[in-house]
Amino acid sequence: MSVEQLDISIKSSKNILLVSHINPDGDTLGSMCGFYWLIKDNYKKTCEMVVVSKIPSVYEFLPQISCAKFIEEYDLSREYDLVINLDVASKDRCSEAQVLFDKAKMTVNIDHHETNTNYADLNIVNPESAATSELIVEIADKLNWKISKTAAECLYVGIMTDTGCFRFSNTTQKTLQTAGKLLSTGVNSAQLYQNCYESNSKDMVLFQSYCVGKSVFLNDDKIAYTIVYKKDLEKFNYNGDDFTDGLTEKLRAVKGVEIAFVVKELSANVSKLSMRSRSKDIVQICTAFTGGGHKLAAGAVIKANPENAVKLVLEEIKNNKLC
Ligand code: 5GP
Ligand code: MN
Repeated sequence: MSVEQLDISIKSSKNILLVSHINPDGDTLGSMCGFYWLIKDNYKKTCEMVVVSKIPSVYEFLPQISCAKFIEEYDLSREYDLVINLDVASKDRCSEAQVLFDKAKMTVNIDHHETNTNYADLNIVNPESAATSELIVEIADKLNWKISKTAAECLYVGIMTDTGCFRFSNTTQKTLQTAGKLLSTGVNSAQLYQNCYESNSKDMVLFQSYCVGKSVFLNDDKIAYTIVYKKDLEKFNYNGDDFTDGLTEKLRAVKGVEIAFVVKELSANVSKLSMRSRSKDIVQICTAFTGGGHKLAAGAVIKANPENAVKLVLEEIKNNKLC
């Protein structure tokens, strides 16, 4: 891991842009804000931060996230000295921000997805890391960066959310040690948990109950799925937040379910697939649809209506003899 090159690049750059991925989650946002504070505290430099889709309301508490600007507010002809993508497995995952990435003098890709395509000048990618935020703490340690309580709060959120609150199989000894190190700065873990998991809107909770209620179980309950239609979202006063966050895990939590997935209608013939598995490698299913992710948690965009997308996914599961 060539962290020295990262240090040199930060030192020699006047303007730095931090980039998060489309449909941002706690890891990409926590990593982006955490990195913002690490650079501010250790190099006395201010970075810009870009988001390419709505920030879920539950993450609005992240220190400095309010300074992140939507890609629409950027001058796309601008040339940054340094662009750093955080938790962005492939360039297309940062959507329109690719333009700024491509124009930059130097690019860095810090990520933990096994499907990462090593698309930057400097790629710091470790699929063994439970979260990009965990990898950032490792980088900080290697470069002897001070981690303030504020930076630690952001990075703790990244690790907590990508490990399902330290319950998923990506949680290692190192993950817990890293979280412990962050807590030692004075982070209030219970408060951060409440912010992320006990601040959902009533509409979202009722919507998820509705989706679970109409879920379909197949193959002796080894497969569970549900479809999310746009019209249903509207019925529950959808406000642009990620109403499906955590929904796939709810289906996987049913005893006996090996593979769970949610297909969400995006537009007439485009659907979003979100998959979870207990032990089967489902990233192969998602890469078949040019998606990606991790062995047990992956996703893709499928060019089909929801019903056809479900058929295609079930066929792919069968062809791969996963269930
Ligand atoms: P989720 O189901 O929570 O949206 O995503 C689960 C995992 O799969 C995350 O690590 C996410 O980055 C990845 N993922 C989700 N959708 C896509 C996609 O369309 N393309 C790629 N490459 N990865 C995805
Ligand atoms: Mn992540």
